Amino acid sequence: MSENAAKSAKYCKVLIVGAGAAGLSSANHLLKNGCTDFLILEARNRIGGRIVSIDIDSQKVELGANWIHGVLGNPIFELAMASGLVSIINIPKPHKIVAATEDGKQVPIGILHEIYEAYVTFLRRCEEYFLCQYIPPPDIHSVGEHINLEQELYLGEMPESPEKRVKRLIFNCLLKRETCITGCDTMNEIDLLELGSYTELQGGNIVLPAGYSSILGPLTEHLAPEQIIKACPVRTIHWRRKGSGSSTVGNLTTVEEDNEGDSDDSDKTVTEAPTRNFNVKIESEAGEIFYADHVICTIPLGVLKDKADSIFSPSLPTYKRESIDRLLFGTVDKIFLEYDRPFLNSSISEVMLLWNDEPSSTASLKDVWFKKIYSFAKVTETLLLGWISGREAEFMETLSHDEVAEKCTEILRKFLQDPFVPKPKRCICTSWKNQPFCRGSYTAMAVGASQDDIENIAQPLYSDPHQPK
Ligand SMILES: Cc1cc2nc3c(=O)[nH]c(=O)nc-3n(C[C@H](O)[C@H](O)[C@H](O)COP(=O)(O)OP(=O)(O)OC[C@H]3O[C@@H](n4cnc5c(N)ncnc54)[C@H](O)[C@@H]3O)c2cc1C
Repeated sequence: MSENAAKSAKYCKVLIVGAGAAGLSSANHLLKNGCTDFLILEARNRIGGRIVSIDIDSQKVELGANWIHGVLGNPIFELAMASGLVSIINIPKPHKIVAATEDGKQVPIGILHEIYEAYVTFLRRCEEYFLCQYIPPPDIHSVGEHINLEQELYLGEMPESPEKRVKRLIFNCLLKRETCITGCDTMNEIDLLELGSYTELQGGNIVLPAGYSSILGPLTEHLAPEQIIKACPVRTIHWRRKGSGSSTVGNLTTVEEDNEGDSDDSDKTVTEAPTRNFNVKIESEAGEIFYADHVICTIPLGVLKDKADSIFSPSLPTYKRESIDRLLFGTVDKIFLEYDRPFLNSSISEVMLLWNDEPSSTASLKDVWFKKIYSFAKVTETLLLGWISGREAEFMETLSHDEVAEKCTEILRKFLQDPFVPKPKRCICTSWKNQPFCRGSYTAMAVGASQDDIENIAQPLYSDPHQPK
């Protein structure tokens, strides 16, 4: 470390890496417990991470999180409520879905309801494997495989007919929707035995009138601006590992107490500035240096999957690295289409897209990526939202917004059998996979992973077993 870097190094009790919901919430917990000596290091030039909104047509539009899932026991809901962000008069807008096939035929609502109910029953049965510890059928390991099996049994009893074909298309559409809810490419990636381990909080999905990102207000109101250092991507977190004998925090060599052979008066003696013994030294990409006693790391799983080996020095213990590998961090993207004028019947709020049979797995993504969009839903009369997941979403991220807009117009004209569907005046697509400080959208339970993996990653690491916790 150069003398200048040593002089300009910053010191605090706790460093928090990441100013998303987790990092900001950690900071608030520290404050509540009387600790004010902390800094948050945030890679981007903004706070919020996967909570971010933009204005489209004077409307706040959320590019990441949108709903508060559940009320009872949900700390985000409690914070939103305490901060007056929740509308007490919540009159849900009527939601009218139509499902259309590629030739523009609309499916009778009775068929849609029937298949939706069957689908929900299949999903609930998958959850029971965790709750009741049932043994799954042979060679069925994933939610996708189980739902497909149930769907085959359900449809198998019906004679071949156009109606049966449509029912199959609805099941396929619902499975695509599920990949967006879950955060994966296909539901065949999701562990059957663990599905029920996810506890859904009571109260349904809540939308904040000022948008989900309004929660960033109360999350930051007690933080001093100088406690959040933006545009500060962390390159390396040097930490002292217990029981590793001589350990190095960056180029500050210390010797741990529990290493008898090496124990002498130089124990825990910093051989370069600073003169105090810190457990953590962080280097930013720009070479800034920070020292602290503790670090709270809230780097998203997608970034950990790519970079955990280079970010942590020494490396994280094997059990943490294995858990990082086992969990899935899937890609889910949003496509917003903004129009000059409304063109969808005002009574319709969502058009489900029932694509003809699934593209073969060898088909080129450039020819089929858009078949993963399962619906377009109205945000307002002049703003539509489509969702897309997995490999297809990642392919979409390589296209220009104009190319996506053109394809979406083609899709809408086809499914609505209306050549006059206008082109959007603006198309905005998210690119969560491509974002270097996220590398995906959210965590999912891959086949073979379990809640233990989440616990393993969250588990604190102590530099010294005798240290008061
Ligand atoms: C499209 C989408 C829709 C979603 N919908 C919902 C929803 O409706 N409801 C819901 O509850 N959740 C939803 N989520 C999930 C929710 O957004 C996340 O669970 C939550 O925001 C994660 O917060 P976090 O702090 O753990 O991570 P993040 O928000 O990702 O924050 C991590 C922070 O760390 C920073 N960082 C990364 N690397 C470094 C580095 N090297 N150095 C310094 N800083 C770094 C990042 O820039 C970021 O600010 C959605 C997510 C997406 C992408």
